[in-house]
Amino acid sequence: MNDELKALVRTIPDFPKPGIQFRDVTTLLLDSGGVARTIDALAETVDGPVDLVAAIEARGFAIGGALAVKLNAGLLLIRKDGKLPGTTIAEDYALEYGSDRLAMHVDACAPGDRVLIVDDLLATGGTALAAARLIRRAGGEIAGARFVIDLPDLGGGKALAEAGIDHASLFEFE
Ligand code: IMP
Repeated sequence: MNDELKALVRTIPDFPKPGIQFRDVTTLLLDSGGVARTIDALAETVDGPVDLVAAIEARGFAIGGALAVKLNAGLLLIRKDGKLPGTTIAEDYALEYGSDRLAMHVDACAPGDRVLIVDDLLATGGTALAAARLIRRAGGEIAGARFVIDLPDLGGGKALAEAGIDHASLFEFE
């Protein structure tokens, strides 16, 4: 089944830089059956209670928002720094290509909340680890991290495992 979902992902060569094969999940989201099966399949990988889904801007919002509904959890938005209106905490992180800074509202989760990190794609793991640092600083517990796509050659799964974060994805691209 996940092979059918994988076939809905478009690959854009040389975006955003020459030599990068960009895995474009927007074509999967355009498919009404595909998006429903994606959310169902992600929900099946989740064991145990989840109080909040922490969705990472921007494609993570689409997937994380739908998964929060499915899991009957709240939705915590993790955004690029400077976009949230309230008092925030922020973490710098290295990207597969470049660097950036993620932020969340400091009061977005309560101590002991179980928080599931969701994004479209796992590459080096830098983004998800920055999200985990934010959630832990705010007192939350990481319930795990879930992705539609994993690029295992970039080592994100290993980095998350080393940080003690349970993680899963629906399919991989080499
Ligand atoms: P990481 O921090 O290296 O794991 O990179 C993952 C982040 O970069 C996620 O927020 C992804 O949305 C984004 N990203 C990196 N490569 C791709 C890609 O090929 N397609 C879509 N998003 C990507």
